[in-house]
Amino acid sequence: MIDEEKPTGLHCPGCGKRMFKTVDSRPAHGGQRRRRVCVSCGFKVITLETIIRTAQPGPGRLKEEVVR
Ligand SMILES: [Zn+2]
Repeated sequence: MIDEEKPTGLHCPGCGKRMFKTVDSRPAHGGQRRRRVCVSCGFKVITLETIIRTAQPGPGRLKEEVVR
């Protein structure tokens, strides 16, 4: 099945399943605020996704600035 949704993300406080569907997504407080609905029981939650750490892609070291 190609369109089958994998159980990922939060556990529903209502039924305990991980079947949330995102119904709304908007930027908020430097992150992303999402309104989600449990497709199993209809429980509605709002989540806030925020970056707490950033890292350079590639080798795990910081770029060194060359000062001339
Ligand atoms: Zn649920």
